Amino acid sequence: MQTIDRESAGSARVAIVGGIHGDEPAGVRIVERLAAELSPLDLPDGEATDGDAESEGFVRLILANEPAIEAETRYTDADLNRAFPGDADSDEYERALAPRLAAELEGVDAVLALHTSHSAPPPFAIYSDLTESVRRTVTGLPVDHVVDAGGLRSTTLDSAVPHTVSIEVGRQGSEEAVAFGYEACRAFLRAHGALADEPPTFSETVVVEGREEVPKGGGEPRVHYANFEAIPEGAVFAEDDVYTHRVEEPGVVPILASERGYDDIFGMYGHVSGVVKPPGEGELRVYPLDEPVGTGDGDGEQNGADRSEHAE
Ligand SMILES: [Zn+2]
Repeated sequence: MQTIDRESAGSARVAIVGGIHGDEPAGVRIVERLAAELSPLDLPDGEATDGDAESEGFVRLILANEPAIEAETRYTDADLNRAFPGDADSDEYERALAPRLAAELEGVDAVLALHTSHSAPPPFAIYSDLTESVRRTVTGLPVDHVVDAGGLRSTTLDSAVPHTVSIEVGRQGSEEAVAFGYEACRAFLRAHGALADEPPTFSETVVVEGREEVPKGGGEPRVHYANFEAIPEGAVFAEDDVYTHRVEEPGVVPILASERGYDDIFGMYGHVSGVVKPPGEGELRVYPLDEPVGTGDGDGEQNGADRSEHAE
């Protein structure tokens, strides 16, 4: 693991983590670019940054899984993003790395973890626990959708480290993923006051509850609906020689949908549960939509237009 501390424009202590998966070069390149652009952290008397200190803010940039990055493989022994909380004494590299990474993020006010996938755009965010910091991150990122993974696994970074949001920035290995992820990181830094080049912008974000994985059998895979596209009741989401996945309830959308990206799943089913509002606009919770769900390509502001008035 490599940790690079940089100057923050404000008092927040924020972190961006790339290279959780070694075969996702976008996160590594984005972290390296930010490290080159942001000013070194100027500490009095050469003191090391102490995450517990009440002092000024910092931007902590982390390359998580260096051996896997070096080998250009997702992991060496175990998937790091399925290994939390981990075990410092484990012989498996990633299980031992997990608590070290969590320690680097202890006391940090906001964490953004960078990922890419085999699935098609649009990019989206993921959280497990909606805190004020997470709300600020999610509504400050240039994404229309956030997946609430709180009901899924408890072994991911965003479930193990408070105030963490993961972001899928695009297709694995693509230049678009690097370009988008870089802009998303700058938006994240602005949202938390760590970057003062321009004011942050916030917008309502549609929350999709992650429900279950959609298994793949064998033979020719066919996926009929794109990410966050509403699957009509009774329609077939995906099929192969073994499975025909027909959706029997309204409001279901695909997450990480892919015909050939994953060996064992077509993706996941999600359910649109509402919107999260920008900081300062109402309580910290998911507001239900009172219009038909699954308006996958509409933006959050449109979804909010018909509902009861905002506070301001
Ligand atoms: Zn990843």
